[in-house]
Amino acid sequence: MIATPNYQALLQTAIDQARAGLAEGGIPIGAALYHEDGRLLGCGHNRRVQEGDPSAHGETDAFRKAGRQRRYRDTLMVTTLAPCWYCSGLVRQFNIGTVVVGESRTFQGGIAWLREAGVKVIDLDSQECVDLLGGYIAANPEVWNEDIGQD
Ligand SMILES: [Zn+2]
Repeated sequence: MIATPNYQALLQTAIDQARAGLAEGGIPIGAALYHEDGRLLGCGHNRRVQEGDPSAHGETDAFRKAGRQRRYRDTLMVTTLAPCWYCSGLVRQFNIGTVVVGESRTFQGGIAWLREAGVKVIDLDSQECVDLLGGYIAANPEVWNEDIGQD
């Protein structure tokens, strides 16, 4: 890597995706897959509500939009919220080198497990991300519980 990336700028892409999802009536969680050279490979957002697809998380949407990549070690998964177990599994499966998290206060997901496995996890503890999702959860608690697999 030539220089330390501007993680806040990368996060902005994910936040823009989260806001797009909210505007569509969906859960405001967004993600982006970047190459460490700064190229945006793909971005996306949670589409559970919009498409009736419980597997369409922000991270999986960004991953699919990025298409096939030869390797993922040099990529960064940037997401507004700590990745759930399912998306943490995706990071492990494809050996994504770095995960940049907007916040982990609302939900911790699998970030401790990722760190144990040697994945670089950067938590930006963004108040904007906390407020964006917090407002949605307060208004739609049942959709959120469905998303994280809680009864
Ligand atoms: Zn997920």
